[in-house]
Amino acid sequence: MRSNLAGPRLLLRRLREVMAEPITAQERLDKIVVLIASNVVAEVCSVYILRADGVLELYATEGLNREAVHNASLRVGQGLVGLIAAEARPLNLPNASAHPGFAYLPETGEEAYNSFLGVPVLRAGRTLGVLVVQNQSHRTYLEDEVEALQTTAMVIAEMVAAGELEAIAQKDTGLDLSRPVSANGAGLAEGVGLGHVVLHEPRVVVTNLIAEDADKEKGRLDGAINRLRLSIDDLLASGEIAATGEHREVLEAYRMFAYDRGWIRKIEEAIRNGLTAEAAVEKVQSDTRARMLRQTDPYLRERLHDLDDLAHRLIRELMGREHGPGIEELPQDAIIIGRNMGAAELLDYGRDRIRGLVLEEGGPTSHVTIVARALGIPTVGLVEDIVSLADGGDAIIVDGDTGEVHLRPAADLQNAYAEKVRFRARRQAQYRRLRSKPSVTKDGVEIALQMNAGLLVDLPHLEEAGAAGVGLFRTELQFMVASSFPRMREQQAQYTQVLDEAGPKPVTFRSLDIGGDKVLPYLRSIQEENPAMGWRALRLGLDRPGLLRTQIRALLHAAAKRDLKLMFPMVAEVGEFLAAKSLVDKEVKHLKRHGHPVPDNIRLGVMVEVPSLLFQMDELLGYVDFVSVGSNDLFQFFCAVDRGNTRVADRFDTLSIGFLRALKTIADAANKHHVPVTLCGELAGRPLEAMALIGLGYRDLSMSPASLGPVKAMLRTLDAGRLSARLLPRLEPGHPDSDIRSFLRRFAADMDVAL
Ligand code: PEP
Ligand code: MG
Repeated sequence: MRSNLAGPRLLLRRLREVMAEPITAQERLDKIVVLIASNVVAEVCSVYILRADGVLELYATEGLNREAVHNASLRVGQGLVGLIAAEARPLNLPNASAHPGFAYLPETGEEAYNSFLGVPVLRAGRTLGVLVVQNQSHRTYLEDEVEALQTTAMVIAEMVAAGELEAIAQKDTGLDLSRPVSANGAGLAEGVGLGHVVLHEPRVVVTNLIAEDADKEKGRLDGAINRLRLSIDDLLASGEIAATGEHREVLEAYRMFAYDRGWIRKIEEAIRNGLTAEAAVEKVQSDTRARMLRQTDPYLRERLHDLDDLAHRLIRELMGREHGPGIEELPQDAIIIGRNMGAAELLDYGRDRIRGLVLEEGGPTSHVTIVARALGIPTVGLVEDIVSLADGGDAIIVDGDTGEVHLRPAADLQNAYAEKVRFRARRQAQYRRLRSKPSVTKDGVEIALQMNAGLLVDLPHLEEAGAAGVGLFRTELQFMVASSFPRMREQQAQYTQVLDEAGPKPVTFRSLDIGGDKVLPYLRSIQEENPAMGWRALRLGLDRPGLLRTQIRALLHAAAKRDLKLMFPMVAEVGEFLAAKSLVDKEVKHLKRHGHPVPDNIRLGVMVEVPSLLFQMDELLGYVDFVSVGSNDLFQFFCAVDRGNTRVADRFDTLSIGFLRALKTIADAANKHHVPVTLCGELAGRPLEAMALIGLGYRDLSMSPASLGPVKAMLRTLDAGRLSARLLPRLEPGHPDSDIRSFLRRFAADMDVAL
């Protein structure tokens, strides 16, 4: 049998008329199946729509038993229709019943039909249903007919996406597109956010599918492809991106696709068949995506992402849309979803309206994570396929504590989380009330609570959280979020701003701690077997004094006529501190010689984070103005457990006797020499651990801003003298109870310490 070659264009014109008619969704589907049946000269045309419960339900048919509409159904994977949905791929069979997947549905009366052509109804690579034609004769459907059916499937996909079919969906099982989805990723920044999806790179919804004039569409496509190629070439040529690295690789992949003849030919063909240029790009992308999604090779899946991005760019180019939503378009409770993004892009959104962030990539040390944490945005990373599962405006819950993401959550889940958010808010309000209260234990011991920072966005927390100062300013963060090496003036500008914003409160800067896991994209990293114990921090600074001297000079300028507090990371020997100190002295002399003002008062200190220093405390304390315990690294080296390796990081207890003795040695030595000592690792921010530190004799703790409230609430209810009297004997050899953590919990419970 010959196909009706008046062809796809005529069909599309008719479809457009049907779409424009003011009729119900059911009537529209009924007309569409009649139209297709006559266009493809088929005796049967049926539409199956995927429900939230994974069942494909017959929504309209021409040729099969009409009673079966909304009654006949198949599971995904069951029968030929289920197979098409599962594999997101067309099936073209002259003798359907001979196919091993064939399943007969008696209610439809389809036994009389032999040939079968089915295509998935796809949108952004997701299967929403299946469209089928059948004939009695044994025939193989022509390429044109497959195309016509696929194009019609796109029209139906838009009806589903626009919510038109909700009205005729079964009450208790909605459509798949509105199905709740729960996914598990990695919790990257703590907190819980409830809100609505904003896609970082929104899919522009192509609503104008059917073209008037194919030549005009071809011209639009050519123009858009040219502009796209130029913009990629420009990006690659610009000095902004590094000569090697991930960024360049992605752009190279974009360029490869943008010049790919096969890809463009397929789009042109879809235009010839009557689609608008943007609909043609979407159609080809949908087909490619469905095919490639079955790939398990991670490299190919990665390239699929690139091709997806490129297709979206091309569609935006065609529809003249700007990249990303404007700030003013953001809902009040935006939860941003993206494959990945740079730290600067997150900052561009502004803090006010963002309730959460979900990324398909993003790791605990990625720059966007660092910024999200600084901004207090609950963040979950490594959530597979979330971009294609979500639609702008969908309700969503992000739990940065557990790494859970709930898309379109059911009402009870939403209520449970709303309660969790309210509970957190109540606690936050309690902490805010504590802000102006003195940081003193029940028995009158003053404890300085400072905060850790590293970016300018952290600084407002100083006031908000009522910190006494910045106990650790990680200067490397400015370097990590920058796209090229910050020059002296840029460093100076940042330090000046930090000191200005801190006003009278002290700031302890730490010199660059790069190397190890803290890599700079623009600095060639060397492969090291054990980077944490490798060429990092002060080691790198002393070997490349130009780098360290520049930073010291920037700090001296910024702190001119004020106080400068500076400490050095990863010191393993007293001599390293002395070498660093002599660099500072030289720089001061140099500035004075050239008539530049210098700080009124310079205090230099050392981070105690390499265990070897514990055996040099008396010498060290003779030279330094202060010390600060970096318990994160100290514990990592003390117990030989990689702090970034989740398999071992939690293997040993930070409250075990050995480590507590080490911490006590440091505090005792510092107190003996009257040298101020702070502890600025994560330990300080956990109330139970902070309680132990106070028991050991620590009187100055620095932590993330969010921890200040809980720690203050704890210490104001603590009798520090009593705790020390009970805790210290347990650290002596021979004490029968070695479980310090349980002891501390019991003590807190008995003494009503607020944990
Ligand atoms: C530490 O090691 O405890 C510390 C505070 O520094 P960082 O976490 O930046 O290594
Ligand atoms: Mg450290």
